[in-house]
Amino acid sequence: MFDLMDEWGPEKIVAVSDAKTGMKGVLVIDNTARGIGKGGTRMQPTVSVDEIARLARVMTWKWASVDLFYGGAKAGIQADPVSPYKEEILRAFVRRLRNEVPEEYVFGLDMGLTENDAAIINDELGTRGAAVGTPYELGGIPYDQLGITGYGVAEAVDQAVATTALAGRRVALQGFGAVGHAAAERLHALGYQVVSVSTAAGALHDPNGLDIPTLLGLRRELGDAFVSALPELKIESGTELFVDADIVVPAALQDVIDVSNAGNIKGRLLVEGANLPTTVEAQAVLRAAGVTVIPDFIANAGGVVSAAFAMDARHSAFRPETGQIFEAVSTKLRANTIQVLEETQRRGGTSHDAARSLAQERVKQAMQLRGKPLPVNA
Ligand code: NAD
Repeated sequence: MFDLMDEWGPEKIVAVSDAKTGMKGVLVIDNTARGIGKGGTRMQPTVSVDEIARLARVMTWKWASVDLFYGGAKAGIQADPVSPYKEEILRAFVRRLRNEVPEEYVFGLDMGLTENDAAIINDELGTRGAAVGTPYELGGIPYDQLGITGYGVAEAVDQAVATTALAGRRVALQGFGAVGHAAAERLHALGYQVVSVSTAAGALHDPNGLDIPTLLGLRRELGDAFVSALPELKIESGTELFVDADIVVPAALQDVIDVSNAGNIKGRLLVEGANLPTTVEAQAVLRAAGVTVIPDFIANAGGVVSAAFAMDARHSAFRPETGQIFEAVSTKLRANTIQVLEETQRRGGTSHDAARSLAQERVKQAMQLRGKPLPVNA
């Protein structure tokens, strides 16, 4: 159950439902000391308040880590994104949050939502300002289609490889969605060999390196089911992160690396493309085993950098050049990767602890500048 009530937040939890559509959802605004709540909106049948609160907290640290002025928040809708009633459910959800949007929270993309859904949100609330990640044709920055988060994950991999002088360049990857496919594309362009990939429909492995341009073409044609087009490369689902590789990139689900399997990771570098892919206990196991970890809120922060551009674009007739966004993502994420590696070395412990303490310092300063808190138990 929900156990995240501490000095950082959450500031507000709004649970909503609608009997007509069966919609159930939640908005968690975690900490707005540095700016209004901004974080993606997830649609999955298993969404829970606890999960959204954990993800909202990740957003608090993510915004502070990239030093951009928004606060941590996240929304979740408990529904199947392939439901024929997706649009009705989505409209019912956003209608219920009229009081909070866009003054306290702006919708964005996360698992289960696409650019088109962002357009529907704006339509439902009658404003261009309710959601970011809208299509290009509506003046938005379609950051999932552009693959900006995955691009940033690959940039973080490349920087960590350079900083730690890692010799190998073989990558085990989980997930081939908005983040995973774009990470594979950029890693391939940077000369990395992706040896395993997966989708919800199955996993593929080729120790000599998968043909990424072919997989990208198959994905465009067949979606997640493309893995079934290559039966000779299939491996058991769930084993794709544990194959022989130098670098491991989970880019799909949360909590996939836990204390029961962390010891089976063969890579020496793990870069978190997904949010919360490693449990706290697993992070300690990886640390003890000498695996370098780049935390989620550092490695997948390309999404928030582009979301920050998109927040401005909501009120502007001008749109930034996409090249400018990619450049900003690369610069910020490479600098942050170096900083976190250095800080981890300086203070010991896990890289998550080191990265969190840097982010917390910024959030704490903002909270203090907004007024002196009462003494504890006042
Ligand atoms: P997505 O829905 O586009 O893709 C998810 C991918 O994971 C799909 O390929 C799906 O088939 C795969 N998948 C689902 N279940 C699986 C399983 N059991 N085994 C293997 N693969 C499985 O989602 P996304 O936007 O790519 O998000 C992935 C992760 O990245 C999430 O944790 C999300 O919170 C995080 N993230 C996304 C963004 C973004 O900009 N999209 C930004 C930051 C973090």
